[in-house]
Amino acid sequence: MHIKDNEAIFLIKPYSLEIKNNVINKELDKDEVLVKIKHASICETDLKIYRGEISKVKFPVILGHEAVGEVIQTGENVTSLRDGDKVVIDPNIYDGVCSSCRALKFNLCLNGGLLGREKDGVLQEYIILQEKNLYRLPTSVDIKSAPLIQPLSTVIHAQKMLTVNPNDYAMIIGMGITGLMHTRLLKEKGAKVICVSRLEEKASLVKKFGGEFFLNIMDKNFQDKIHEITEGEGVDILIDTSANVELIYSMLKHLKPAGQFLSFGITTKIGNIPMYELYYKEAKIIFSRSSLPKDFIDAINLVRNNQIDLNSLINDYVNFKNIGQIFKEYESKLRYIISFDL
Ligand SMILES: [Zn+2]
Repeated sequence: MHIKDNEAIFLIKPYSLEIKNNVINKELDKDEVLVKIKHASICETDLKIYRGEISKVKFPVILGHEAVGEVIQTGENVTSLRDGDKVVIDPNIYDGVCSSCRALKFNLCLNGGLLGREKDGVLQEYIILQEKNLYRLPTSVDIKSAPLIQPLSTVIHAQKMLTVNPNDYAMIIGMGITGLMHTRLLKEKGAKVICVSRLEEKASLVKKFGGEFFLNIMDKNFQDKIHEITEGEGVDILIDTSANVELIYSMLKHLKPAGQFLSFGITTKIGNIPMYELYYKEAKIIFSRSSLPKDFIDAINLVRNNQIDLNSLINDYVNFKNIGQIFKEYESKLRYIISFDL
């Protein structure tokens, strides 16, 4: 396998991106697959890596962990994929043999990592991956929005850790793509979803994704409105996707006794956790990390069955050579799809 021209987006050090050639010159191992990347997307994790906020990063690194591509060649033991198949990439690196993996917690592998963080990622024209990191996409799935199947799998994973009863009040902070995905999934489970954002223009998307209430945090009375909606009882489930610690702590008071708080947005900052209040309510605090193979299967099925519209979460399609601009404009946007095909 010798690919001389393989343009790749390297993060040389924080805030310093460079598009350089990354020659691939190795034979495929028996369980490996060569993939040509078609479309990718970036998320808050990439942004944190870009800003140098995550210490695990080994510089220089090729960025990216959300992508779809096409199978170009397969190793001799590969059975689930053929040349020409469209695939979504599972960016979790796991060894399959440590105690976490033996307990089927591949997302928590003791020797694991993430593409685009500890290991070169998907923002390059070609990549060699193991068969276990690739899921064949049904031909009916639109591959231009399919990079969002990876974040969808993480939302599915997180919600499996919650107990949701029909008619529970669930409040979600932040209406970026994962906030909207959480809204859609909770609606499917019969919850009444209160969506919180600082951007008024998210109101119509919230409605589309099944949110029952939309609250703008710029509205001075928005906390009173939560009180009104829940008749003073508060919410059964609170999910944060904003990673805004001040906001999170101010919202915890709306959690019902025995309520569940899911911390989904990854924050590297520490604020003042109201420990006594949480103890008094016997609150359940849940963290979720990444996703499992079954979550990918579930995410693909949701998209295939048109139970979630990924296309409406996309701002624009841009050529990967404009990556610098995307990182600058990321704030407050939904999601760009970075195309290697444009
Ligand atoms: Zn492991």
